[in-house]
Amino acid sequence: MLLFDKVSKKYNQDITALEDVHFAIDKGEFSFLVGPSGAGKTTLLRLLIREELPTSGSIFFEDIEVPKLPRKLLPTYRQRLGIVFQDIKLLPSKTLEENIQFALEILGKEDKEIKETSEYLLELVKLQDRRNLFPQQLSGGEQQRGAIARALANNPDLFVADEPTGNLDPDNAIQILDILKNINKTGTTVLVISHDRDIVNQMKTRVIRMVQGKIVSDSKGDYDSVGKPKIPDIKPTVKKEENKDEKEKEVKKKNEKKKDIKVEDSLKELNKDVLEKLLEAKINNIDLVLNLTERDLENLKLSSKEKDILEKFVKEYLNKVEK
Ligand code: ADP
Repeated sequence: MLLFDKVSKKYNQDITALEDVHFAIDKGEFSFLVGPSGAGKTTLLRLLIREELPTSGSIFFEDIEVPKLPRKLLPTYRQRLGIVFQDIKLLPSKTLEENIQFALEILGKEDKEIKETSEYLLELVKLQDRRNLFPQQLSGGEQQRGAIARALANNPDLFVADEPTGNLDPDNAIQILDILKNINKTGTTVLVISHDRDIVNQMKTRVIRMVQGKIVSDSKGDYDSVGKPKIPDIKPTVKKEENKDEKEKEVKKKNEKKKDIKVEDSLKELNKDVLEKLLEAKINNIDLVLNLTERDLENLKLSSKEKDILEKFVKEYLNKVEK
């Protein structure tokens, strides 16, 4: 399902975050990615979601060569992934249920499906009775479970969680692990970045260990078990040019869908070109705009003038809200 094919990533001449990283993950696997801080785990995740490009080597997700994917197809690709980042949590101005439903609305789901799926997801993470609470009213463990539920809204093929049990007590950590196991049981491939020895040891599953940008061990068992990294015996299969028509059709469909995305009133005053670029990335409300990182802005490919326009718009919005 996923192949990192001799991937290296240099942020600059002196910083090599990944060096010749070569591994594959099969469909349905449950694996842990472990390693000390600075080992390159987050970088690997950024390359997977195409927030960064490799300096050399490539990444294949089934038949998609990720670094070469046309920008327009990025949202469709990312919808196949469910990612829970370490720092990005639920939208603060929405209740837990609204957070989950919002993820489904963005996907253009019908009301009935939105209701049914959010019900299912709330049940999966055992938070039915917390549905009307805002993120700041939830405990750390509940917020984490909520974030997992939201990341599952698009029924991803691959689910990745970055330190999902970080800062949680053992009971809460076990609850999270149970949820991840259940997700995996339903057929979703799961990759968990973790420092949590106890959690890794409970699972007795594949542990990929990175140190200083390299995979130094790949084995099944405990956190500390050691095994020679496996060299995947697979050749990437990429969709060839004959699929170009299909890609174009997909882009067209996406663009048509874009017209269906409802723009929140608060964004209606925004410059049309900027709004167009935001909608392309399915950013259709002020909460999402306020959550944009520098990196997101780069990915949106806004001109410097457009960036200024957006910055001014946000400032004016925040001023208005303060008043
Ligand atoms: P981990 O997630 O395992 O802690 P990271 O992928 O965050 O590791 O970092 C790997 C290395 O790359 C570190 O030395 C870090 O300082 C460096 N690094 C990460 N992001 C950047 C960046 N945007 N620019 C320059 N160096 C970076």
